[in-house]
Amino acid sequence: MIPICETFTSLQGEVQGLGRHAFFIRTFGCNLAKKCPIDCDTPYSWKEGINGVKPWQFQSPASLKKQMIESGSNTCIITGGEPMLHQEELTDVIEGMKLGAKIHLEFFIETNGTIDPISTLCTDRAVFFNVSPKMDDFDPRRFPLNRSVFKHVVDPRSSKNLDNLLDLLHGYNESLRRRVFVMPLSRNRSEYHEGSELLAAWCIKHGLNFGPRLHLSLWDGEKGR
Ligand code: SF4
Repeated sequence: MIPICETFTSLQGEVQGLGRHAFFIRTFGCNLAKKCPIDCDTPYSWKEGINGVKPWQFQSPASLKKQMIESGSNTCIITGGEPMLHQEELTDVIEGMKLGAKIHLEFFIETNGTIDPISTLCTDRAVFFNVSPKMDDFDPRRFPLNRSVFKHVVDPRSSKNLDNLLDLLHGYNESLRRRVFVMPLSRNRSEYHEGSELLAAWCIKHGLNFGPRLHLSLWDGEKGR
C-alpha cells in the first residue's frame, strides 16, 4: 500500500515524455519538505492536513492498476512529494501494471535526486527518471544515464543563479550536459512566458537545452492537471 495524494489523467508537462497522454500518481510525503531550498509548488503533497483531515489515502497496486487501465494511457507519471521514498512499493505497482498489459507501458519517476534508486528500478528499461536536483551534493551518476534527464530550475533574471548553474555544469562531461534541461522559475502562466523568453536566449548562447513547462502554459498551474 502506498500513501497517495491524488491521481489524474492529463498530459505530461515536462522533459521526458513531454506532451504524452498520461496517468499521474502523486505519492504523499517528501524527505525535504520544509528543508527544501525552493518554494514548493505542491505543499499539499507533504503537509499533513488541519483538524486531523488526512490529505492522502493508502492505495493498493491493484487499485492503481485499475485506474491506469481506465485512463486508457500507456504512460504513467509517478510524482510527489518524493516518490522515491516508496521505491519497493512502486516496484510492485509497476510490475502489477505490466502484468497482462496489452500495450507496452512506460513509467516516468519525478524525483528530487536525494535518494539512490534501487536496482530493480535502475535496470527496468520501462522506467525513466526525471530528476530535479535540489541539493548541492547531487550526483547524477547515481541514475541510469540513458533513461534519466536532469531538470534545473533557475531564475533567468538572477545572474548569480545562472552563473551557479554554469559552474555546476562545468564539472559535467559532454554526454551528461546533453541530459540537462534548464527551466524558468515560475509559478503561473505569465511568469513562465516572461521567463521563457529570457532563458531560451541564455540557453542558446550557452549550448544548453531548454525545458518547457507545458502545464503552466496550458493550465496556469491549476492543481490536478
Ligand atoms: S522536493 Fe519537491 S515536493 Fe519536496 S518540498 Fe521540494 S519541491 Fe516540494
